[in-house]
Amino acid sequence: MPKSREDQFRALLAEQREEALRALAAAQASLAMVAEARDQAGGDDEHDPEGVPLSREWARVDAAATEARARLDEVDAALLRLETGTYGVCRSCAGAIPIERLRIRPYADVCVPCGSRSRR
Ligand SMILES: [Zn+2]
Repeated sequence: MPKSREDQFRALLAEQREEALRALAAAQASLAMVAEARDQAGGDDEHDPEGVPLSREWARVDAAATEARARLDEVDAALLRLETGTYGVCRSCAGAIPIERLRIRPYADVCVPCGSRSRR
């Protein structure tokens, strides 16, 4: 991959890293808020008349935090691949990952056929 293109993806990944960090911070703030609300409810959160049970809200926000953390790991791994010269190479078949795919998912580490195979 030419250096100029690597720089493009490095910039793209840096953006996504910022985004993931923001999402993680937001999720952590929400978790703190849910924890506080749960404390005030005295542990009786399943009978909260305000609607959504806190345990369900907690699960939702916790999942968002987990997702943001996973995205951060993926982006960091992709940045590392840029440094080591293996960026854009499929981890599974060692073929080239199409640029179009990398533009949509700059942290992708498998090509489309390998990606859909592993999901099955
Ligand atoms: Zn592949």
